[in-house]
Amino acid sequence: MLTGGGGATARGQGADVSAARVVIAGGGIGGLAAAAFLSRAGLEVSVHEQTAEFREIGAGLVVAPNLVRLLRRLGLAARLADVGVRLEVGWEFRRWQDGRVLFAQQLERSAEMYGEDTWVVHRADLLELLRSAVPAEAVHLGQRATGVEQDDDGIRLQLADGTAVEGDAVIGADGIHSVLRGAVTTPGPPRYSGLCAWRSLVPADAAPELARRPAQTLWLGPGRHLVHYPVSSGRLVNLVAFTPAGDFDVESWESRGRVEDLAAEFAGWDPRLTDLVAGAGEVGRWALLDRDPIPTWTAGRLALLGDAAHPMVPFFAQGAGQAVEDAAALAVCLSDPGATVPEALARYQAVRAPRATRVQTASRGRQGSHHLPDGPEQQTRDAAFAGDDPLAHNEWLYSYDAEEAARTAR
Ligand SMILES: Cc1cc2nc3c(=O)[nH]c(=O)nc-3n(C[C@H](O)[C@H](O)[C@H](O)COP(=O)(O)OP(=O)(O)OC[C@H]3O[C@@H](n4cnc5c(N)ncnc54)[C@H](O)[C@@H]3O)c2cc1C
Repeated sequence: MLTGGGGATARGQGADVSAARVVIAGGGIGGLAAAAFLSRAGLEVSVHEQTAEFREIGAGLVVAPNLVRLLRRLGLAARLADVGVRLEVGWEFRRWQDGRVLFAQQLERSAEMYGEDTWVVHRADLLELLRSAVPAEAVHLGQRATGVEQDDDGIRLQLADGTAVEGDAVIGADGIHSVLRGAVTTPGPPRYSGLCAWRSLVPADAAPELARRPAQTLWLGPGRHLVHYPVSSGRLVNLVAFTPAGDFDVESWESRGRVEDLAAEFAGWDPRLTDLVAGAGEVGRWALLDRDPIPTWTAGRLALLGDAAHPMVPFFAQGAGQAVEDAAALAVCLSDPGATVPEALARYQAVRAPRATRVQTASRGRQGSHHLPDGPEQQTRDAAFAGDDPLAHNEWLYSYDAEEAARTAR
């Protein structure tokens, strides 16, 4: 059975894309952002998300200037300011043993250098912001995608209940374990990094003063590091720690860990950090996975987006940023009246794949340098931090305008 979603029919290969109907598998950050940008461009969209309800899972996310810029275009900047925390004090790297500051950057320079501030938010708040920019009737919960079928006239997203949704384009925004990825490239499991992430939200009144400041603080130590920053208008402190995972290989936003195991990982570190860990309530724990970059993201009327295309380890805090950049570029390409759907998607891939691959590769590269054992290499790294200006190094990342890049490519 085909469900057309409003009775729209898919159009032939030769038709231009500017009135296309776009079917999106996955209602995470990337899928909702795609729906928001495509709706804003006047295209008809539907989002098919496997979970039956949006729940408050996950924890904090850094919203870097390249992502803030795009949220502003969706009219969401004021609401971001309501739910997020602007990193006013800055970005600090500290030594594990005594909290000595290795490097500190005033992030007020972020706006001066890149035109936007850096914010931190709860993941659920970012999802809600994006959802508010999508017509409510476009979002369908409890619908799991299982595959696609396409021909010259259109494409059908198949659902687990045996129905299918017809459109002119399907976007696979179904995350790191994407089913639709198998229709674009050789299927295979993600790469296991050997690390796991622990996440918790600590009530601000149970956190040490150091962790309540509007700063993103990274504590570097042998084999592991821990990051914290305030979220939810400062009511909570988000803590995320990266440690060796041993034989733990569960990858799920909902997998749980034990506070005492997390505390044992950081035994002997600076007491301000161990105090913060002690205040943690519920702890999420999951294995960190990524994949090697792929050159091809599209097959005819199907395109991958976000983690389905380029899952990355979170050491540049850019997975969500790259997913939203994909979404913005996709809408520019798909609203070009001169192109067919496959041409528009090919253009999307041409503009997005080099950029996302660069971020994906750079993210993997950070694992080694953040986890050096104490010794000559660590001393060289720390000395470099002292004379460094990472914000200047990251100009390529934060100044980028995904819509502008897609328009230029067009
Ligand atoms: C520890 C950690 C810290 C991070 N920190 C940051 C950060 O600070 N800043 C940042 O920008 N990024 C960060 N990220 C990355 C970011 O969370 C992801 O890159 C981002 O969520 C990707 O969005 P997505 O929509 O592609 O995938 P997801 O958010 O995973 O969404 C995929 C959606 O598809 C649905 N789905 C899956 N399969 C199907 C199916 N078959 N049918 C229908 N629906 C389906 C899922 O239920 C889900 O809702 C972090 C990640 C981790 C693990």
